[in-house]
Amino acid sequence: MKKLINDVSAVVPDMLDGLAAFNPGLSLLQGSTIIVRADAEAAAALGEVALISGGGSGHEPAHGGYVGPGMLSAAVAGEVFTSPSTDAVLDAIRAVAGPAGVLLIVKNYTGDRFNFGLAAEIARAEGIAVEMVTVADDVALSASGEHAGRRGLAGTVFVHKIAGAAAAEGLPLSEVTQIARDAAASIGTMGVALTPCTVPAAGKPGFTLADDEIEWGLGIHGEPGVERGALVSADAIVERLLAKIVDDLKLKADDRVALLVNNLGGTPSSELSIVAGSALRALAARHIIVERAWSGTFLSALEMAGVSLTLMRVDDQRLARLDAAATTSAWPALSGRVAQVSVKQAPAAPIAASGARLSRESALRRVIEAVCARLLEVEPELTEMDQRVGDGDLGISMSRAAHSILQEIDTYPAESAPADVLRTMSATIRRVVGGTSGPLYAVMLLRAAAALDEAHEPDAKVWSKAFTAAVAGVMELGGAQPGNRTMVDALHPAAVALNVALDKGLSAGDALNAAVDAATQGAEATAQMHPRLGRSSYVGDRALGFADPGAHAVALWLGAIESTLRVDRS
Ligand code: ADP
Ligand code: MG
Repeated sequence: MKKLINDVSAVVPDMLDGLAAFNPGLSLLQGSTIIVRADAEAAAALGEVALISGGGSGHEPAHGGYVGPGMLSAAVAGEVFTSPSTDAVLDAIRAVAGPAGVLLIVKNYTGDRFNFGLAAEIARAEGIAVEMVTVADDVALSASGEHAGRRGLAGTVFVHKIAGAAAAEGLPLSEVTQIARDAAASIGTMGVALTPCTVPAAGKPGFTLADDEIEWGLGIHGEPGVERGALVSADAIVERLLAKIVDDLKLKADDRVALLVNNLGGTPSSELSIVAGSALRALAARHIIVERAWSGTFLSALEMAGVSLTLMRVDDQRLARLDAAATTSAWPALSGRVAQVSVKQAPAAPIAASGARLSRESALRRVIEAVCARLLEVEPELTEMDQRVGDGDLGISMSRAAHSILQEIDTYPAESAPADVLRTMSATIRRVVGGTSGPLYAVMLLRAAAALDEAHEPDAKVWSKAFTAAVAGVMELGGAQPGNRTMVDALHPAAVALNVALDKGLSAGDALNAAVDAATQGAEATAQMHPRLGRSSYVGDRALGFADPGAHAVALWLGAIESTLRVDRS
């Protein structure tokens, strides 16, 4: 177990301490695990019904995150995944009760029902008006099966919001209770887990899942779900969860709902957005009207990766209560309104000039194709090298460039204007490759093109000058000198070797051969260099003994150029 905690026995108090310290609107009741609205007394004195929720911890931001004007008056936190004691609930009731009374919103777990229920009974005996609403929104379990009833899941947060708005309107306890009960009856939730979670005091996960396994319809305490299955696509997961909820709520076309896409704790925001987008599409396909939708971490199960989807039927009144102001740390500031037009047309890129195209037979095209083929072929090798000393994306970046160039090469300008060909190639790379190597290769080709522009008949010497200019461009943009362990350690010696050989009167083929040798040796030598630039610099001396992948790539594509032209000559 690896957790950011001080002591397994202090997880809950330490967490509540931090929560209260960061929220001037919240207070932690001394010596307790109860978070109350700082203005709870004033609100009660105004005749507002006080709302209390809570349960085991581990579901953050529930429930302390929903304490504040417009939602809860207090949240009672038990130990992780353990209901709070009767007396803790009683303390919370006494702390926030006013003349209008108290409504307890409880998730349907046996321990919670007993402790909140008993506390309510004792408080009533003390003369406090207390009502209790149980949320049982888990549609994975049958409504009446051989179990302790449907569990309370993320839909509980909707009940907090609706009841909170009703209480803030000043409605009496009986009405707030009925409104909360009706809302709870209009909600369905189902979730899926990709990983288990670890209760700090237990020290190890509550269950295990194989790499490719998911658990459908789990509870939020890591208790087993209804079925274990193979991992499927986000769309397929959403479809199955929604089908179950829609069926349970008997939703049909033109029915109006609010949607909650809930992170169970360990889901990256990116994946949550994928699920959220998918859920909107799936509901649109059913012609169900999504009046409001929120996606985020609302009610979690510690660090469990996975999501739950919640639908609540809404009418205008319920919508108004969802829209009503709530000042809490966890209820989202976004209105929940769904974008009408979520995709906007991008400004069009300049259209390539029409005219002659790069012919299949041209030497330039065959060289470009050979370079691309080599880069595609060595993708795994470059990936592995970049994984060792960088972030592992170089192989993908280079192969993405190669793919796009091959795809677009038919539209490239004719070989009679090689500078234009290089410029178009640069534009392709600029568009599809990011990272560090993208702009460096783009500038390399642009500088070479500019040098070619100045020449009438590009012979070997002109190409050599263009290569030198290209390397200078890379060094200028990247700020790397030879010896800094970058692609420059292959490019620079290659450019020098090419010039020297041609000046000595060697044939173009021999000169290119010398350049490839120089690049290969330069790339190999990077294994002994200390990284100072790029991501390898974070790896530091751990990179020693491994060659720079960018430099290695240069030697590989130069080699591809050399062998294509050699075959041409023979
Ligand atoms: P990143 O993932 O770091 O954005 P890439 O994976 O696209 O970068 O490219 C990594 C390669 O880029 C390195 O192996 C190195 O050869 C080269 N490189 C990194 N920084 C520079 C720089 N400042 N100048 C020239 N080349 C660089
Ligand atoms: Mg990289």
